[in-house]
Amino acid sequence: MKRNKLQLNFALVILTLLCAITVRTAVFTKPSIYRSSAWLGEAKTATIEFDDPYSDFRNARYSNAGLLSEADEIKLGMQLHREVTKRFRLTDVGLDRVERLGQRCARASLRPNLLYKFHVIQAREINGFSLPGGQVYVTSALLRLANDNELASVLAHEVGHIVARHSLKTLRQKQDYNEIAKSLGELTGVAGDVARDLGVALGQMVGEGFLAVHTRDEEREADFLGVRGMTRAGFDPQGMGTLFSDHPDAQERIENTRYEIARMRRR
Ligand SMILES: [Zn+2]
Repeated sequence: MKRNKLQLNFALVILTLLCAITVRTAVFTKPSIYRSSAWLGEAKTATIEFDDPYSDFRNARYSNAGLLSEADEIKLGMQLHREVTKRFRLTDVGLDRVERLGQRCARASLRPNLLYKFHVIQAREINGFSLPGGQVYVTSALLRLANDNELASVLAHEVGHIVARHSLKTLRQKQDYNEIAKSLGELTGVAGDVARDLGVALGQMVGEGFLAVHTRDEEREADFLGVRGMTRAGFDPQGMGTLFSDHPDAQERIENTRYEIARMRRR
């Protein structure tokens, strides 16, 4: 029991960490996930009713409609990855494991046909993020700390951001979105003026962490997609927890994923 709780806390802490840095706007649409409606019946019993924290996402359908086309999304991902490699040191150490677990999560996701690429960044911080087009990154520090279920929970969460096209939605709000979209359309290779101009704009975005920054609702959605995806992939979703439960979001997210795990077990 204790062990389960620890595990749960562990992964949600990681996720919070990853995304904590990235929570841009704390939009609170639901101030509390629980509504306790106790009433007194004849037998004077109190009942707790749970609100579904994921109700917004259960019937969601995901596509590139209204966003960059998938082909342009993949081009964008490749360009962004080049910028990532300029800023971070990538390593092959542990990459096999990340690739193996990551591909399992990706195949079991709601976007199984995209070509996902997993990367390990040499860093002391526990972190992970994803970019459009199937690029997923975790740090070497996270790898050392996490067991397979915990690592899978992080990877499935990041795949969830890609499934829901969160970064593409963020990009669409950017002022120079039309220019970027046009450049991607014209982009035929990694060399040339278009690639160079695009590289400058995208390099800035990577530097600012712009596309890896998500709203609170997006984090909740990625948790939902992640916990279900990793379960379909055969991992123990108890690995879905976080490391630093003192973060304001952590407890809520732990409770939410617990809710989902219990719900899946009832079925
Ligand atoms: Zn996230």
